[in-house]
Amino acid sequence: MNQMLKKWLVMGLVLLFSLGGCSASDVSNGGTESGKIRVTTTIGMINDIVKNVGGEHVETIGLMKSGVDPHLYKASQGDIKKLDTADMIFYNGLHLEGKMVDIFEKMAKKKPTIAVTKNIPKSKLHAPLDGSQDVDPHVWFNVKHWISATETVAEELSAFDKQHASDYKQNAERYIEKLRQLDDYVTKQIATIPKQTRVLVTAHDAFGYFGEEYGIKVMGLQGISTASEYGSKDVSELRDYLVKNKIKAVFVESSVPKKAIEAVIEGAKEKGHAIKIGGELFSDAMGAEGTEEGTYIGMVKHNVDTIVSALK
Ligand SMILES: [Zn+2]
Repeated sequence: MNQMLKKWLVMGLVLLFSLGGCSASDVSNGGTESGKIRVTTTIGMINDIVKNVGGEHVETIGLMKSGVDPHLYKASQGDIKKLDTADMIFYNGLHLEGKMVDIFEKMAKKKPTIAVTKNIPKSKLHAPLDGSQDVDPHVWFNVKHWISATETVAEELSAFDKQHASDYKQNAERYIEKLRQLDDYVTKQIATIPKQTRVLVTAHDAFGYFGEEYGIKVMGLQGISTASEYGSKDVSELRDYLVKNKIKAVFVESSVPKKAIEAVIEGAKEKGHAIKIGGELFSDAMGAEGTEEGTYIGMVKHNVDTIVSALK
């Protein structure tokens, strides 16, 4: 073989390999090998929307599992990789994922990175009960806001993958119908609690939108974000309120330590008023995967049933 021929052969091989490399990187940037869109989400409630709306066209990865607190969540190297290899990212926004804001900004330059709360009218958003932040991020507990989030996911998936837009629309309609039924269920169930004991006391103010929409007074101990510590003044104020109003039960949350609420119960006991723990509510994270409470609808139902049976 002469030198010239050798040179051409090498060049040809180089070309072949670089083409191969190109198509391999296409797979990592434009969907899975099965042709599904890769979506990475933060909280489980959002992952649930994407699964329901995306159906067979989408493969989802949820970063925050059951019992995880999104306010304090820091992305690991593994998480960054999952965000990097995704085709699309959906997150809550409104500063819920407070430690991931920079990452979302970076990702937004490379791929659709969408806050599912972006189309909820600003007038419907309000400050948390303790005024610690501008906007309360826990919008999912007003089911109507989660319907808006579902519509946003459907629009964004359709824009990204026009070929399957009608499927996304249909899936979203089906899921939204279930959410409407859920909204109705919550309204009716909460209304069965006598008005004077319709008070929901939990460790942090995750239920502001819930209380406003469904007519139950909400009191938290820890403020809007679990990042802010509660003080002994909060404990004594809440204790006095519960004793005075003869509230029977308070609730603990799966993603918040129990000790704050236990301090209140202990304080009330010293004042001669018995308060029981009404049960565990899901606030910022859903139940375990594969269980009823591991879905958004199941989680909301669990909360409502737990609240109603303890306060009724
Ligand atoms: Zn929270």
